Amino acid sequence: MVEAYSDIIVMRHYIEGAAKFASEISKNPVINAGDGANEHPSQTLLDLFTIKKEIGRIENIKIAFVGDLKYGRTVHSLTKALEMFGGEFYFVAPESIQIPEYITKELDEKGMKYHICSEYEPILKEVDVLYMTRIQRERFDDIEEYNKVSGVYKISKDTILNKCQEHMIILHPLPRVDEINIDLDDTKHALYFKQAANGVPTREAMYALALGLKNSTAPRKEEKEEVEEHFLTVCKNPKCVTHFEETENKVVVKDYGTFCYYCGKEIK
Ligand SMILES: [Zn+2]
Repeated sequence: MVEAYSDIIVMRHYIEGAAKFASEISKNPVINAGDGANEHPSQTLLDLFTIKKEIGRIENIKIAFVGDLKYGRTVHSLTKALEMFGGEFYFVAPESIQIPEYITKELDEKGMKYHICSEYEPILKEVDVLYMTRIQRERFDDIEEYNKVSGVYKISKDTILNKCQEHMIILHPLPRVDEINIDLDDTKHALYFKQAANGVPTREAMYALALGLKNSTAPRKEEKEEVEEHFLTVCKNPKCVTHFEETENKVVVKDYGTFCYYCGKEIK
């Protein structure tokens, strides 16, 4: 119904795959503004824009993701995007909230270099970008699990200055809790406020493209997905839209596994 009142639907939803499903039934363009712990592609565009502006390129970037990598949807989307441009990833998190296997499988398949780490200090000299994330209380079903990992990574002037590369930038999708001390805010490494501000032109560009007011001049990289309908295959992710709406049972068949079309999780 919302499509009757609007030209574009920007959808933020707690169910994984909700935007993808909405795009199938809506005549208007749907922009995924975050679907549960799954993806946040519009954030990724402004992250890429910020990296390009500040570092000068997005190819072959060395980036460390720190914090909640399991539920951190911005991390999932940015990893997928940067895969297209080479680079090297450092995933820094406690074991219980490390980067999901369905993402590392894809990185393995594409021959990408990545490292699973539990501390950020030893790799500060390696990376161009330090991408901090908030450990999100609302993603945890068990508060005990949250308490075990909250506040585990905290950066400040003491832990960063003169310990990283001169050009290293700190990004964060915001809001922060206590993972970035405010004493870093006035340093040259702190790019997170500029990053948030870059969301304005990036999203304007997205609307212009979606409304057909501008045409993209960027070369398109078509990724062929083998989508099949499996009537008897059920996605095991309890937060997937397939359990809430009358979707078709679509799966994406890759050489290294079968994945849910909507939430991207592997179906074993
Ligand atoms: Zn699913």
